[in-house]
Amino acid sequence: KLAHLPYRRTLQEFDFSFQAGIDERLIRELASLTFIGRQENILFLGPPGVGKTHLAVAIAMEAIGQGLPVYFVSLAQLVGDLRKAYEENRLDKRMRVYLRPRLLIVDEVGYLPLDPLAANLFFQLVSARYEKGSMILTSNKSIGEWGELMGDPVLATAVLDRLLHHCHVVNIRGNSYRLKDKVKTGIYS
Ligand code: ADP
Ligand code: MG
Repeated sequence: KLAHLPYRRTLQEFDFSFQAGIDERLIRELASLTFIGRQENILFLGPPGVGKTHLAVAIAMEAIGQGLPVYFVSLAQLVGDLRKAYEENRLDKRMRVYLRPRLLIVDEVGYLPLDPLAANLFFQLVSARYEKGSMILTSNKSIGEWGELMGDPVLATAVLDRLLHHCHVVNIRGNSYRLKDKVKTGIYS
């Protein structure tokens, strides 16, 4: 699969009128990829179905189109993979998979809480990429909830400090696109 993307979606396929709260100009600016040249990050925050992964994938496809190495992984897959490597004494080698790409997308931060080892491995990755390569993260949790998510407020602060230092935070507050037709037919109203 292309850079391990879960699906292919472009910016053209994103309906900005459905998600009126999103700053379309900012998204188009981000899709021009200048943030990658500056080693900046993007954090898409919001509830399920509002387009976080779609926008991350669309920017990833722009980067792939420019010939940049891109890698997409969910946080659960990432920590599972790094944990296995750690247990098999090959963490440094495996870490390179996530350090090499110019753009690393870590999807679904927040669906599962992290145990101490997982939180530590995530911190190591974020530290190693800090000011070296861009990341796009998506999360259903607000930044304030990351401490609980990581089970360690000190470690969460250290992660957020690095991630947010050079970062575009995009808060999406709208309705789920997945449920839009159901809302229209009154199931949810
Ligand atoms: P999440 O925010 O949970 O990551 P996704 O980005 O995966 O949600 O969006 C869920 C589905 O809805 C995807 O198929 C995505 O392409 C579609 N979608 C979400 N928002 C929009 C939108 N504004 N315009 C078009 N499709 C959208
Ligand atoms: Mg998603």
